[in-house]
Amino acid sequence: MKLQDSFNRIIDYMRISITDRCNLRCTYCIPKGRVELLDHDELLRYEEIIEIIEAASELGVKKIRITGGEPLIKRNITTLIKGIKAVEGIEDLSLTTNGLFLEKQAASLAAAGLDRVNISIDSLKHDRFKDITGGGDLDVILKSIQAAVDNNLTPLKLNIVPIRGMNDDEIEDFAKITLSKNYQVRFIEFMPVGKNSLWDRSKYLPTEEIRERVSSIGRLIPVKERKHGPARYYRFENAIGVIGFISAVTHHFCEDCNRLRLTSEGKLRPCLFSDTEIDLKNSIRRGASREEIKRLLKLSIEIKPKGHNLREDGINRTLKDMVGIGG
Ligand code: SAM
Repeated sequence: MKLQDSFNRIIDYMRISITDRCNLRCTYCIPKGRVELLDHDELLRYEEIIEIIEAASELGVKKIRITGGEPLIKRNITTLIKGIKAVEGIEDLSLTTNGLFLEKQAASLAAAGLDRVNISIDSLKHDRFKDITGGGDLDVILKSIQAAVDNNLTPLKLNIVPIRGMNDDEIEDFAKITLSKNYQVRFIEFMPVGKNSLWDRSKYLPTEEIRERVSSIGRLIPVKERKHGPARYYRFENAIGVIGFISAVTHHFCEDCNRLRLTSEGKLRPCLFSDTEIDLKNSIRRGASREEIKRLLKLSIEIKPKGHNLREDGINRTLKDMVGIGG
């Protein structure tokens, strides 16, 4: 079965946030003094998440990404990973993490069936990393990256959000990693998400500028890595790894969008940049049948917008922050 939306896009990918809590405080992601957290019983339970994935998979969803908040702060996450992996039709299971708790869990996550991880890392300088993340230890993240590789949680993707005056002087250093490591180093445009976000136009770097700086190291050769993902990939001659650019603001990739999001409070969100959501948790807790869950999933696909209006002036920003939606 294939899930097709009103604009002939096939939706086969679901990103699921399993918590709105995080063990880091990245300045650009979590607004200062954020106190509004969901009560624990407002978060979807593992068995509810599995129930939704079973229904989604019957409709044609094949790829699942677990995110948050920070997914690895959740207890017994391997139970969830095993449960998802056991769902018929799920072919690819990945997780996005800040890496703080990954080193110790990499082996058990891989054994439970996790296929790969994306690790967010915004600086290679110890002091700066600590400042950006509100106390994170870069050495711990570097060990986690190695643990991910050692446990075949690959292809390993490193996500960087270059922000002017914060870490943009490290763009070249991040790109150079690909010369000696088989990683996908991905630069993500800083997006105007969340009403309290630090985003402003002066801090944001368009992909074009990021790519220019990367090109100062060497010629970038386009690579065909793209399986419906938003990144455009390149490599330096003789490099082992690849460099990706995710231009959510300057080049919308809506026409290729194959995804649906599920927030940690159980709301289906057809588009990251639109605050329209469908409450699935309430229906499940009222005893919705498999057919009813499927109907709501289909409805969220029907209302998936053709595109979003995110602009370089940041005017159309969403109400929820990234940590609340699930980045
Ligand atoms: N805790 C996990 C992590 O750190 O990867 C998963 C959640 S975090 C919200 C997911 C990603 O969203 C991170 O890579 C972070 O850099 C990114 N992110 C947060 N706010 C963003 C923004 N305004 N623009 C672009 N990316 C953002």
